[in-house]
Parts: sequence; C-alpha cells; structure tokens
Amino acid sequence: MAVHPVTLIPGDGVGPEVSEATRRVIDATGVQIDWDVQQAGLGVMEQHGDPMPAHVLDSIRRNKVAIKGPLTTPIGKGIRSVNVALRKELDLYALVRPCKSYPGVRSRYDDIDLVIVRENTEDIYAGIEFQEGKAETERMIDEIAERTKKSIRPDSGLSIKPISITGSKRIVNFAFEYARSHGRRKVTAVHKANIMKFTDGLFLQVAQAVAAENPDIQFNDRIVDNMAMQLVQNPKEYDVLVLPNLYGDILSDLAAGLVGGLGLAPGANLGDEIAVFEATHGSAPKYAGMNKINPMAMMLSGVLMLRHLGETYAANMLEGAIAETIREGRFVTYDMKADRDDPTAVGTSQVADAIVAKLEKARTPSTI
Ligand code: NAD
Repeated sequence: MAVHPVTLIPGDGVGPEVSEATRRVIDATGVQIDWDVQQAGLGVMEQHGDPMPAHVLDSIRRNKVAIKGPLTTPIGKGIRSVNVALRKELDLYALVRPCKSYPGVRSRYDDIDLVIVRENTEDIYAGIEFQEGKAETERMIDEIAERTKKSIRPDSGLSIKPISITGSKRIVNFAFEYARSHGRRKVTAVHKANIMKFTDGLFLQVAQAVAAENPDIQFNDRIVDNMAMQLVQNPKEYDVLVLPNLYGDILSDLAAGLVGGLGLAPGANLGDEIAVFEATHGSAPKYAGMNKINPMAMMLSGVLMLRHLGETYAANMLEGAIAETIREGRFVTYDMKADRDDPTAVGTSQVADAIVAKLEKARTPSTI
C-alpha cells in the first residue's frame, strides 16, 4: 500500500482543533499518510519572524500535497495575508471550491452542486497597495492625475488591480479542463466588465476566446452583482463558475451559504505541481479552543485531498461517513442545528469520534 507524504499545517484559532479532527478521520479510512506537521501562522511569527517560515514552504514543495487549517490575518495592521502569500509563493493559481448539498443540512436548497473556480494570484489581491498619507502615495496620486486628468482625493489609500491575459487564460483553461474531467456541462465566467473594461473586460475577452476552443462545454457569462442574485434565485442553473480573485472570494462564501454555511465548504488550492487543501472558513478566533466549531469543511477538504492522491475508495468512504453523520443529525455542531443554542449540539471532537466509529465499522469485515 502506498504511503503518501503530506504536510499538515494546523493553523491559527480553531485551526488546530479542526486539523486534529480531520487527521483522525483520514487515518481511520486506513489510507497510509506520513504526516509532516509544520507550524505556521501568528503563533510562529514571534519565533521565526515570519508567519510562513521557509522550512514550511520547503516541506510543501517536497511533499507536493498539503492540508492546512485557517491562518489569521489581522485587519488593517499592515500585515499581508499569509494565505495570499502561500498561494503566490507556490503559484497555486486555482482555488476550487465545490458547494454540494448533503441531505439533512438545514438550507433553503436541497440539491445544489456548484463548483467555484477562483483565480488565486492576481486582481486586487496582488498586494500592491499604497497607504494613505505616505509620500509615495501622494506621488502616485499626482502621477495618476497628470496622466488621466482624473483626480483622487489626497487622503486616499490605493490598491492596484492587475489582471493579465496569461493569468486569465490559465484559470479559464483550468475551469474547462476541470469541467470536462468531472463530467460537468457548463462554465460561467463572472466579471464586472461593464465598469472595469481593461481588467475584467480583458478577463471576459480571454474567457470567450478559451470557450471558443472548448465547444464541447457550454459557456456563458454573468456580471458579478447579477450573479449574486442569480445564485440566490436560480442556483441550479449554474455548474462551474470561473472568477477573478475577489469575486471568487465573495461568491464562495455566498455559495457556502447555499449548502449550509462555512462549516461545510471545502477547498483546494491547485498549481501545476502542488496542491494545498483547506476549508473556505477562517480561524474564527472567538471559538478557538472551545471544541465548538464544525470540522466537516476541513474533513471534506480531506476528501478532495484523498481523491487528488488517487485514494478514491478512501475518499468515497470518508465522504459517505460524513454524509451519514449529517443525515442522522445526532453528532453535529451548533451551526447545523435550527437553534444555534440547541443543547444537543456536540463539539468538534465528538463529530470526529462519530465519523471514526462509522469508518471503523465500515472497515471491519462482516462476521455473517
Ligand atoms: P471566519 O470564517 O473565521 O468566521 C466567521 C464566522 O463564521 C465565525 O465566527 C463562525 O460564526 C462561523 N464559522 C466559520 N467557520 C465555521 C465552522 N467551521 N463551523 C461553524 N461556524 C463557523 O471568518 P472571519 O471572522 O472573517 O475571519 C477570521 C480570521 O480568519 C481572519 O484573520 C481572516 O483573515 C482569516 N481567514 C483565513 C482563511 C484561510 O486561512 N484560508 C480564510 C478566511 C479567513
């Protein structure tokens, strides 16, 4: 049986709890993983002066596959997101977020099966920012006024939004290949090309050109604000969505809401060689250490990882055990209850216990 080396980054906030729960259920499938546990995030920042130390990146490069808990990015403190840095550093250009309904989940819809493909390296997330009040920002504002004859208020901050032909082609091609290899019928490109003609407009032009080369898969496009409404009103009309970075981030959370919330939304950051799996949700600091948060989003990211490793049987077994736990509704966390204060909600580790028990039962040979 193959042993798969995998980097495991527990992460910040609730990360260690959901990571531990995920590791336990993956091990319980019987698949052989050689876990290379690496610490990153706020906790190691003081020790190494860097929230994503070089040895952690080296571990991911070596193993080619990683699964991580969420990492905290303090708001407005001038600290760049470690998640964004990780994706850029390893050129994980595609963020795939499947949003699928599981029977038993409390949601307005019961048969959603959407996949969000988000570009991960460009757009306003490029980290090219000019802070309000700095001399270089003033110079940039003056330069823009001179070149465009458009004025920007002097007390502004600036964020630059680059979108390239190269980046757009790569992600739209990825979306078509993903659609084809996963038996999907349609790709929808999402943009705001009517307003941002030279960035979103370029993305749309490239998407249309790539679509013309892939006539076996249907293609259409939607303006992002309209897409948000369509996803709420007619989600079943959509299949694979491909979006620039920011819209992908926002609509991923919306789509997670359609299938029961952040506690159930998995994700995969994919490059040509490296894959890093992580839930859509963040580090939820207010719940850290409370054994309260739903580990299923990270467990379902583990299902995606097992499929990526070619461990289809283990992936199906784990997805089945999670689906059964949801359907039964007994060992689920507060977010899956109608009333968030429902005293019958269980904690993170009890969800893992229930799933491990199902997996052990499934692996025990029948004595009949
Ligand atoms: P969040 O996803 O951490 O939490 C928002 C709220 O959603 C929580 O307070 C909780 O009520 C609910 N929630 C989230 N995950 C849940 C789960 N598994 N089970 C049950 N309820 C859940 O979003 P935030 O508060 O905006 O971000 C907190 C921190 O996480 C920030 O520093 C942010 O930068 C970071 N973040 C990291 C990642 C990542 O590592 N990929 C992604 C998003 C946010």
